[in-house]
Amino acid sequence: MSDADPAAPRDEPSTTQPDPSKTPDREQQAREYEAIHNRLFVVRIGITVLALVIYFFSGASANLAEGLDARFGDQWWWTNTIYILVTLFAFSALMFPLTLFGDYYLEHRYGLSRQTLNGWFSDYLKELAIDLLLTTLFLAIVYALLRASPDWWWAWTTAVYVLLAVVLSAVWPVWIMPLFHKFEPLDDDALSRAVRAFAEASGLEVLGVYRWGLEEKTETANAALTGLGKTRRIILGDTMLEKYSKEEIISVLAHEVGHFKHRDIARMIVSGTVLAALGFYVAHRMLLLLVERFGFEQIGDIGAFPIFIFALFIFSLISMPLSNAYSRRREYAADAYAVRATGSAGPLVGALEKLADQNLADKEPAPWIEFLLHSHPSIRRRIKHAQRLDEEGSTSAVQTES
Ligand SMILES: [Zn+2]
Repeated sequence: MSDADPAAPRDEPSTTQPDPSKTPDREQQAREYEAIHNRLFVVRIGITVLALVIYFFSGASANLAEGLDARFGDQWWWTNTIYILVTLFAFSALMFPLTLFGDYYLEHRYGLSRQTLNGWFSDYLKELAIDLLLTTLFLAIVYALLRASPDWWWAWTTAVYVLLAVVLSAVWPVWIMPLFHKFEPLDDDALSRAVRAFAEASGLEVLGVYRWGLEEKTETANAALTGLGKTRRIILGDTMLEKYSKEEIISVLAHEVGHFKHRDIARMIVSGTVLAALGFYVAHRMLLLLVERFGFEQIGDIGAFPIFIFALFIFSLISMPLSNAYSRRREYAADAYAVRATGSAGPLVGALEKLADQNLADKEPAPWIEFLLHSHPSIRRRIKHAQRLDEEGSTSAVQTES
């Protein structure tokens, strides 16, 4: 749905203020930027698999589990929690150079970031703390379920996953996002009145529209529908509000209203749940198959954690094209809503062109890259799709008249 969905992969990155003497062509730069990110993605997969293999086969994982077990004895909850926390932290530390390169250095090299190294690092630490806290809590619950219900833990885990997804979707825009960016209700100028008038005409008077303070940290623009229930809101990046025409901003808003009308956040939670259930079941079969072979007593033995993570990791890689394909369909549907609601494709096409340029998005990535990795259709395809709808719309209007 939104590019800003916290759970969504960041595959639609950002913009450059390139040195004109070095950069003949911004589209060429976008292709380079995309290619570097794709290579980084492959490198991350390689390191993850290698790290899991070494962690498991060197005996480090089993040793850590035994050491903690000797220390905590019957208090298995502590053994599991500390094991998970130490493991996740070590993995983040291992990945840190790549994270620094991808999220800080590259963003600066392509002129997309306005953050200082200190500012970036402080955000990184906040993200890491939130991530470690939530992931450790979730996995500790999973391992408690593995002990309590060795046959059905994967079904219980799916239930916990849904609960967590719903709660996090609801609290994310009010508790987490303000830790990183400022949010203010759109003030009462002509633009916000136009935005509000459009939102209300679409039947969304209960929905807040907020200015999303991106510009202190980035050159890139974004907009999103976030939250659930009372926290549901549309957020529009200030980097967009200042540079796009009123019609273009309304078309972006209309796209987000499309997500709202189509209940896309709920849809993503439901489809995510189906995939999660499958993933946990695959992990279940893998643990059953391998745990005894490697000398563990039960599938809930925390020493076998790398097997569990490996199974989930491979499953998520295989299922990624599937969830991305679904996400791209939802994006086309939201674009179609925007074209219908605003009566023409022009403003949306204008906004997409600007977004691609500002965010340094490769407008036409290789189809197989888009198929595998992108949660949003390429800008070129979105533009063609919007224009086709526009033509069909005007054709049918003419037919009705005649
Ligand atoms: Zn969208």
